[in-house]
Amino acid sequence: MEQFTYTAQPARIVFGSGTLERVADEVARLGRSRALVLAGEHLRAVGDRVEEILGPLAAGRFDGAAMHTPVEVTEQALAVLRETGADCVVAVGGGSTTGLAKALAVRTGVDQVVLPSTYAGSEVTPVLGETEDGVKTTRADPAILPETVIYDVELSAGLPRPLAVTSAVNALAHAVEALYSPDANPVVDGMALDAIRHLARGLRALDSGRGRADLLRGAWLAGTCLGAVGMGLHHKLCHTLGGSFGLPHAPTHTVVLPHAMAYNAAAAPEAMRRVAEALGTADAPTAVFDLIVEAGGPTSLRELGLAEADLGRAADLAVGKPYPNPAPLTRDGLAGLLRRAWAGERPAGGAVSTIDALTAQVVATFAGTEDARLGALLTDLVPRLHAFAVDNDLTQAEWQQGIDFLTRTGQTCTDTRQEFVLLSDTLGLSSVVDVLDNSRTPDTTPSAVLGPFYVEGPPELPQGADVSAGLPGTPLYVDVTVTDTDDRPVAGAVVDVWQSNEDGFYDVQLPDLDGPVLRGRLRTDDGGRLRFRSILPSEYPIPDDGPVGGMLRAAGRHPYRAPHLHFMIDAPGHRRLITQLFVRGGRYLDSDTVFGVKEDLVVDFVPRTGPTPDGAPVAGEWRELRYTFRIATTG
Ligand code: NAD
Repeated sequence: MEQFTYTAQPARIVFGSGTLERVADEVARLGRSRALVLAGEHLRAVGDRVEEILGPLAAGRFDGAAMHTPVEVTEQALAVLRETGADCVVAVGGGSTTGLAKALAVRTGVDQVVLPSTYAGSEVTPVLGETEDGVKTTRADPAILPETVIYDVELSAGLPRPLAVTSAVNALAHAVEALYSPDANPVVDGMALDAIRHLARGLRALDSGRGRADLLRGAWLAGTCLGAVGMGLHHKLCHTLGGSFGLPHAPTHTVVLPHAMAYNAAAAPEAMRRVAEALGTADAPTAVFDLIVEAGGPTSLRELGLAEADLGRAADLAVGKPYPNPAPLTRDGLAGLLRRAWAGERPAGGAVSTIDALTAQVVATFAGTEDARLGALLTDLVPRLHAFAVDNDLTQAEWQQGIDFLTRTGQTCTDTRQEFVLLSDTLGLSSVVDVLDNSRTPDTTPSAVLGPFYVEGPPELPQGADVSAGLPGTPLYVDVTVTDTDDRPVAGAVVDVWQSNEDGFYDVQLPDLDGPVLRGRLRTDDGGRLRFRSILPSEYPIPDDGPVGGMLRAAGRHPYRAPHLHFMIDAPGHRRLITQLFVRGGRYLDSDTVFGVKEDLVVDFVPRTGPTPDGAPVAGEWRELRYTFRIATTG
């Protein structure tokens, strides 16, 4: 049974475009009347506008906030706060300005109204990090949480693109680590996934108003996750890199996140699966890396100014203080992570690279296959099967369904029913193999698929025989010739023919029929000719009461084959020809369910009346098929 604890942070959120205009109302709503305005470094003009809107509620101004909230700056701001008799602060800026507001609030109890201009998320957390004498300490206190946050899309839209990218990835990191936090709970999970979706969408459309709105919405939710649950390796590592090596906050988050995710991927597979799903991809760490590259964000700690010589010390510091994290924290592991992040490599260790290793392992087992061709086929098959699973993010249930389907396909096979051939036919595989193996010589008759109804050892019949054995149907007189590619007749060729009856059934589908019918083995005469009588074949559904039929129905496909006669021609010194002749004008020629129709094989079955050429009287119409098969010689 799932167990969790969830504490909601009591913040008031005002979200929208142009919401900055409501700042005076929000201050008044808190019952405050003297606001100290804190404006970030690049936001002086916005600070002026805020003062203007506040009018008499504005009591003073301090614009000196700095990264990592140095205590000496807080002391200066505190003096201004006291001087002005302010009872609240209104902060306009990024995490640094918010940090200063929090530092003032925790010391004096003043209320805070925060207007975030970045996506850092600090405005919705009860956490404050401060630096004194170069040491950063973090504390959490409900008094630190700002009372009101005004998110104005227009304000954050002013954030220059490079800052927007790194700040958004900083937010993404909160949401990702929330999913594998020891305090994870359904409320936070829901917010985290929604945040990831919005942040990814925003990062892909950075230059549009919609994209910026997505980022701000994602930032709010991600910040809320950060304020609700504990973070893991990624945040601690960034803290170390920022605190001890002076690396910039958001860019460091941007470089480290894909690598921290890859490090945790195997230990937090469900969280990674959910992140990947929210990103619309199969592997979360590499997808985040690619997202950053596409958005033009930094990818290496080297470019942020970390010296290679500092990597070892960074690993020592990172492993120094243990904290909860899905994957065990080892010095070697962290050193490897940091080295890859320093060099800007695409991350390794995610699900996909685990699978890559697995695939390579399986492929290696075929290295000793004695039959070289078999070895080559298996070596190629395995990576393709694995890639199919990865690309489609195959679930266990889908895999099981596939196994069940194949099991039923095998169980449906009997001496007279070949469900696997049917499956191959309806997937077009038989035609692909046919094209590859049989149809590469333009001067021979095109081949066609064997189909599932061929039966070995058909009855030997003499020239002129009636293969239909008197079954009802439109009489058919067949007069075909077999030649080589130089038009020389091939005498004594063994020709197997088989076809459906007028209702579209083969004998093997009709258990009441006595013995083989509508199939036989005949031989060409000295002139390469072969004549026999039969009935006109009709279109027919392939057997669709088995698993293959189920597949066709699931896909909304019909099961019909266009009407045709099958031929298999063997002659010493010649290549075997397996083919079909299709009845011109027949149904389903353009949607044959096994993809077997080739234009050159669609021929006239000419309507005639009167006696057939062998002198047999026929009442009514009959059809005549004349055709010359050209077969290739071997060697
Ligand atoms: P920041 O506030 O330092 O801003 C980065 C830079 O962007 C600054 O130069 C700033 O002047 C500029 N800037 C901000 N908004 C701008 C805009 N709209 N247009 C032009 N320039 C703009 O950086 P940040 O990434 O927002 O925040 C980082 C700080 O916040 C760090 O000190 C970090 O520790 C802290 N933080 C704290 C928490 C928390 O919960 N306590 C959470 C996240 C971040």
